[in-house]
Amino acid sequence: MSLRKLVAGNWKMNGLRISLGELAPIGRAATAAKRIDVAICPPFTLVAQAAANADGIAIGGQDCHFATTGAYTGYISADMLTDAGASHVIVGHSERRSANHETDADVRAKAEAAMEAGLVAILCIGETDKQRDAGRAGLAVASQLDGSLPRTATGDTLIIAYEPRWAIGTGRTPSSGEIGEMHKLIRAKLIDILGTEGVRVRILYGGSVTSHNAAEFLSVPDVDGALVGGASLTAAQFVPIIEAAENVSQ
Ligand code: PEP
Repeated sequence: MSLRKLVAGNWKMNGLRISLGELAPIGRAATAAKRIDVAICPPFTLVAQAAANADGIAIGGQDCHFATTGAYTGYISADMLTDAGASHVIVGHSERRSANHETDADVRAKAEAAMEAGLVAILCIGETDKQRDAGRAGLAVASQLDGSLPRTATGDTLIIAYEPRWAIGTGRTPSSGEIGEMHKLIRAKLIDILGTEGVRVRILYGGSVTSHNAAEFLSVPDVDGALVGGASLTAAQFVPIIEAAENVSQ
């Protein structure tokens, strides 16, 4: 079954109000691309303004807390993101898993909070280079998925992003064959856990996606879109990725 692709941009800690100017050309490309969905996850400070101005683009947060309210200085809840106009949120990004020591249980609680608040959770999983070199990439990813995935997830409320940690921001990528192998494994695990609903959950690939490799990666079976970091910061780099996704979705 072929799922509608999503091209999502993660701006990380990049972007001032002036950067929102990138959204107009991205929005035009997204509106022209009828067969795919497009999302941008700017920093929290820009979410409300982006959501108010983005045409044809879904806006997401980059993280949320598992609690709805409380004494959690500096954190943002899923409800706050919904209130600001977001429709999606990234949870479990590897930069947060490593820098903030987020566990699978933490990530699952965040994904549950996101879904509860009406957001689509983009749940990131991916192996380290050590795990891949040791031939344990599949085991590591399956275990992360098992630990992080809310059992109530559906194809409408959750998206998986497979992002090998060693490929993020490095310019190094797995081969198409390796990506296909991992997405197949993730699909099987999703079906194992969620039953038939697992067939509907989109699986994005992320890690050094650019306009040069997007068409190749997006043509791999079970690659239902891309999560893009560096190449999502400007329309000049991101629009060709949107166009590649639209073209391979014919
Ligand atoms: C990311 O941050 O999720 C990511 C995939 O980054 P990049 O595209 O820069 O590797």
